[in-house]
Amino acid sequence: MDASVRQMFIDGRWIGADSGETMPVFAPSTGEPFTAIACAGAAEVDRAVRAARHAFEAGAWGCLAPVERGRLLSRLALRIADTAEELAALEAQDTGKPMTQARADIVAVARYFEFYGGAADKVHGDTVPYLGGYFVAVLKEPYGVTGHILPWNYPAQMFGRTLAPALAVGNAVVLKPAEDACLSILRLVELAAEVGFPPGALNVVTGRGEQAGAALAAHPGIGFLSFTGSPEVGTLVQRAAAANHIGCTLELGGKSPQIVFADADFDQALPVVTKAIVQNAGQTCSAGSRVLVERSVYDAFTGRLADGFAALRVGTHDMDLDCGPLISAGQRRRVQGFLDRARSDGVPVLAEGRLAPNLPPAGYFVAPTLFGPVPRGNVLAREEVFGPVLTVLPFDDEADAVALANGTDYGLVASVWTRDGARQMRVAKRLHCGQVFVNNYGAGGGVELPFGGVKRSGHGREKGFAAVDEFCTTKTVVFQHG
Ligand code: NAD
Repeated sequence: MDASVRQMFIDGRWIGADSGETMPVFAPSTGEPFTAIACAGAAEVDRAVRAARHAFEAGAWGCLAPVERGRLLSRLALRIADTAEELAALEAQDTGKPMTQARADIVAVARYFEFYGGAADKVHGDTVPYLGGYFVAVLKEPYGVTGHILPWNYPAQMFGRTLAPALAVGNAVVLKPAEDACLSILRLVELAAEVGFPPGALNVVTGRGEQAGAALAAHPGIGFLSFTGSPEVGTLVQRAAAANHIGCTLELGGKSPQIVFADADFDQALPVVTKAIVQNAGQTCSAGSRVLVERSVYDAFTGRLADGFAALRVGTHDMDLDCGPLISAGQRRRVQGFLDRARSDGVPVLAEGRLAPNLPPAGYFVAPTLFGPVPRGNVLAREEVFGPVLTVLPFDDEADAVALANGTDYGLVASVWTRDGARQMRVAKRLHCGQVFVNNYGAGGGVELPFGGVKRSGHGREKGFAAVDEFCTTKTVVFQHG
């Protein structure tokens, strides 16, 4: 195999695909290929699942006491922190995100391993008062082997988000990262091996979704699946899980509303509202992609929002401006399709950011664009664009704001901007989504905070202790002692 091809990691060893198939990896900032990855098929996935099963049942991983597992996770957290600059540079080159964002992502992945390293020996079961002469214990146990399928938008962060809790409770894992960006993950798994994760505990199979991803989702040796990506593939993964009678979590994106009432503190809200869509060029499942503004302050708020948007600058990952390129030519075509359609529908453009001069001509750049007022039925008001495109809609009163906020197929995150404490609580309770931020917004933030969606945004919870529960099953043991 060509030495420049990145291999996958199975049972503690780096291997190429049996078929020899590879695919190029493009740098979003230049549009040029700079390396290649091996394409796993069903045979490599099967090998990875068997290795994980062996590590769990008979290998060094399954024998570790929880405190020892926790120490390994904590050691990996420290190692990631020591390697942060190298990992950030790799992540920035591979995804196109500005270096500042990539550095923040590496801080987050270390934090996941720190948090769940501390949790590993605190996963307690329960006892249940039962009939006289009985003692009942409810044990929390790992599934055995868990399967994880990830997208390309936050590879490093999601490596921590999905694997750290699964490993903390004792599962052995098989991960299929996205074909568009997986280099930081290959480096992270190397660091895991260096700090002492035993062979088979942590396996990574790279390659195409329809091959490696589908084979992993369908593998009968998997006890639980965790998927992040598009709703369409989420449906396929859930079908595969159902065929094997196993559970899965699905994290499928959103059209998250940011609700601005007339009494909001504009100075506080404006930079946060802008960052919530510009972060990672809008390619964030929890991007705040719809701003709902009370009609009486619509012009005042959107005027200032437009000024901020017009000042945004787009450049390569190493220029480290407000916004980097999109992940791929395909994603740029998709986002450009939304922009062209909105323009041809006559949706007014309130402001556009600027591309830096002399950018590489083949890079996947798109100017951040602010549209408003967007008609409620327009596609921009309902569908996830997954790009730096912000939609503004006016609302009349609190009931209208809640109806509008809840009026898409998605339900992931929302924010409420108001100084009225009673309204904060009323609105937060009425929103159909997994997280509500009041007078702040944390797209993807907060390792400690349970996160996930309802409706088309998916189901199941990641982060915080909720993720520990997701990756465990319970066993009830009933003793009769007379
Ligand atoms: P995708 O759902 O196609 O891919 C996500 C992961 O699933 C990748 O690892 C992919 O290889 C794998 N996959 C693809 N087909 C599969 C199959 N048949 N069986 C099993 N696994 C399979 O997402 P994408 O193409 O990367 O992006 C498409 C759209 O999805 C984006 O434009 C965006 O709207 C959305 N998206 C959402 C998130 C999120 O965080 N929720 C992340 C990325 C993309």
